[in-house]
Amino acid sequence: MFTESELAEYREEIQERVCSRCIERPHFGPPCAQLGKECGIEMHLPQFLAAIHEVESDSIEPYLDRIHRRVCNSCPRLGGEGCPCPLDYLLVLLVQAVETVDQRKGMKRTARVGPSGLELCGNGRAMCGNRPN
Ligand code: SF4
Repeated sequence: MFTESELAEYREEIQERVCSRCIERPHFGPPCAQLGKECGIEMHLPQFLAAIHEVESDSIEPYLDRIHRRVCNSCPRLGGEGCPCPLDYLLVLLVQAVETVDQRKGMKRTARVGPSGLELCGNGRAMCGNRPN
């Protein structure tokens, strides 16, 4: 469970590190939902945070697995078209942003996932909702 101020701190770091590199970012976003762009980060931020907090790895794959279990498996869009979750290249940035905040708060180890830690899943999106468990 996260307080509003904790979520705000993660959001701020994510906007700086992730949204600034997002090719789907609408003008004047984020927040993006009100601008017509659904985004998994906005829709499922607490679940993403919980999933990332359960992993400590130099590779992105364990984060992906945990996110599929924690986020995708309870998503009403699972198995449907148009997954709104971030493109693969943004996932590494998302993990780095979350771990930077954790580090700042003294919660966790130093950020570990490097830019080469990315491994893609089937349809080229890191969060593909159709991925089997
Ligand atoms: S679509 Fe998601 S990742 Fe992209 S700018 Fe909007 S909130 Fe950030």
